[in-house]
Amino acid sequence: MDKIEHIGIAVKDLEASNVLFEKLLGTPHYKIEAVASEGVRTSFFQSGPNKIELLEALNEESPIAKFLEKKGEGVHHIAFSVTDIKAEIKRLQSEGFVVLNEEPKRGADNKWVAFLHPKSSNGVLVELCQEIED
Ligand code: ZN
Repeated sequence: MDKIEHIGIAVKDLEASNVLFEKLLGTPHYKIEAVASEGVRTSFFQSGPNKIELLEALNEESPIAKFLEKKGEGVHHIAFSVTDIKAEIKRLQSEGFVVLNEEPKRGADNKWVAFLHPKSSNGVLVELCQEIED
């Protein structure tokens, strides 16, 4: 793992939360992107060297809809950037972590992503992400 790439926050209303986080961080969001395969709409903020991702559910089957129902709004996941996501998945599996998708999938903000089940990491949903280079 190289560094924390971003922190993901589940929100009910992306527009309202964009306004709130623009006030909080003192900077506007720099992109909004829907990831239909994940049932989410996201927006991104850059705060100094750090990134915040807000996630809104696109439909009721969305993992974000389920998260909001169970836990309400708040921190949803921590994402770490990695340079070789497949090697990192293998390493983590060999250490006993439960990887939710062994095959990296295309996530928001031009990244290959994979998630670890929170039950194997003290309740923290961990996302691995690797920049897609086309
Ligand atoms: Zn994320």
